[in-house]
Amino acid sequence: MSENKKIEKIVGVKGMNDILPADAPLWELFENTVHSVLKSYGFQQIRTPIVEPTALFSRGLGEVTDIVEKEMYSFTDSLNGDNLTLRPESTASVVRAALEHNLTYDGPKRLWYTGPMFRHEKPQRGRYRQFHQVGAEALGFTGPDIDAELIMMCQRLWDDLGLEDIRLELNSIGNAEERNKHRTDLIAYFEQHKELLDTDAQRRLHSNPLRILDTKNPTMQDMVNAAPKLLDYLGEESRAHFEGVQKILNHNNIPFTINPRLVRGMDYYNRTVFEWVTDQLGSQGTVCGGGRYDPLIEMFGGKPTPACGFAMGVERLLELMKASGEQYAPNQCDIYLVHQGEAAQLQSFVMAERLRSAGLDVVLHCASASAGGSFKSQMKKADASGAAFAVIIGEDEVANATATVKSLRTAEGENTQQVTIPFDGVPDYVVDQIVGDHDHDHDHVHYHP
Ligand code: ATP
Ligand code: MG
Repeated sequence: MSENKKIEKIVGVKGMNDILPADAPLWELFENTVHSVLKSYGFQQIRTPIVEPTALFSRGLGEVTDIVEKEMYSFTDSLNGDNLTLRPESTASVVRAALEHNLTYDGPKRLWYTGPMFRHEKPQRGRYRQFHQVGAEALGFTGPDIDAELIMMCQRLWDDLGLEDIRLELNSIGNAEERNKHRTDLIAYFEQHKELLDTDAQRRLHSNPLRILDTKNPTMQDMVNAAPKLLDYLGEESRAHFEGVQKILNHNNIPFTINPRLVRGMDYYNRTVFEWVTDQLGSQGTVCGGGRYDPLIEMFGGKPTPACGFAMGVERLLELMKASGEQYAPNQCDIYLVHQGEAAQLQSFVMAERLRSAGLDVVLHCASASAGGSFKSQMKKADASGAAFAVIIGEDEVANATATVKSLRTAEGENTQQVTIPFDGVPDYVVDQIVGDHDHDHDHVHYHP
């Protein structure tokens, strides 16, 4: 490279975000809560590849969905010509994997997943090209009980995450036959109002008129509101199923509103559909969507297997958590280990390992032995690290087999605590201090006795 040529920095792909260390504790809190809530309902995690055959999605999601029409990152494998796609969602992958490994051979399965998804859309607040979802798929369950269970599992997750302003919207889109009858009437209705349809709606008029109900176009709202309602077309069984879901939710005091215009983007949904919505995120207010997809598994060549699931948008939920002021432990360690001189550096490695074995988080000052940094500059780093204690090992300490432990979070006015303790006693001393402190300062204790 020529010397005077300016090196152009490579920046990340638009709409694909770095998750930086400052946000990592929030992600961890979210992920840990998800793990424990889903586990408490007996859901088991499944991890599928990020790349799948393109046909999985074009066949699985339906050709006339936003995702398949315009949002997929598809490419040709340059080695063998295979058509591949970065997964835009995971239901199709989970169903593929379940069939491939015959996961439902011994009965229904409760599965969940988490990970990045890829959609080529216009990046904006709450809408990215790489984003993350947590989803659950319950395969092989017929009754309305599993629909209600999935919904209640979401409610528990919101509660555990400290999120309050998320409301549940519910609908039933019946079965294919019921939708067909409704569709005929719907197309006739829209044709009567053709002058009001925008280009998107005109394009969908015959391919996917149900999706027109989902329009966000304000000039179409009144007309769409008065359109024939799918709910009025439900037969006995669909109606009973929908009532079954509502009965369980009512009995458990889960509030919901029925939104007759609620449909899902994917063609494979039937019967129960639901969305969790908030007003706090602007126009990207849907944090979770789900419902039944009884026809999908058969469409993929499996035995007819009823199923129900949901997917939630992690970034949108994290934004809500931030807005709600949810407290989470910042990136901090318990101890910053300061040392001076070569013998002390060697000793400090031993000490750091002993402290970690005692359950403490330790940052060991790193530097070459010849230029380890002055004591003062190391103490500055210790302060900046957010550690609760500095453990200091200098020449004197090595000679006496002791370490100096200095409290770094002494409140103003208090005497700075500084004690010198034999090496062997240091781990217990710090653990006692931190656990003893726990009652009035619980922002950072990792130690589990
Ligand atoms: P939207 O109408 O907002 O485009 P969708 O119907 O495409 O949503 P789903 O496919 O049901 O969304 O995905 C489930 C959830 O994943 C959404 O409710 C949302 O919270 C989140 N999500 C979807 N697309 C994105 C994206 N591009 N960026 C961030 N989150 C997303
Ligand atoms: Mg979308």
